[in-house]
Amino acid sequence: MSHRYRIVYRREECLGDAVCTAIDPDFWHMDRDGKASPASDHVEEEQLKDALLAEALCPARIIHIIR
Ligand code: SF4
Repeated sequence: MSHRYRIVYRREECLGDAVCTAIDPDFWHMDRDGKASPASDHVEEEQLKDALLAEALCPARIIHIIR
């Protein structure tokens, strides 16, 4: 069975630079207010690699994948 990983995201601190949406456009999108939002509060195992990359490269360090 595929494992799920919870995402904790502090949206109010988003810088709006769209790094996450460039890395993982299937999961992250930019909202009209200029901040990013995730498609869900969790990722599946097969989405984990991109999720970890977004976590690592987000300049604000506000994306956290709970393992
Ligand atoms: S990479 Fe981080 S700061 Fe940049 S848009 Fe995404 S969540 Fe916001």
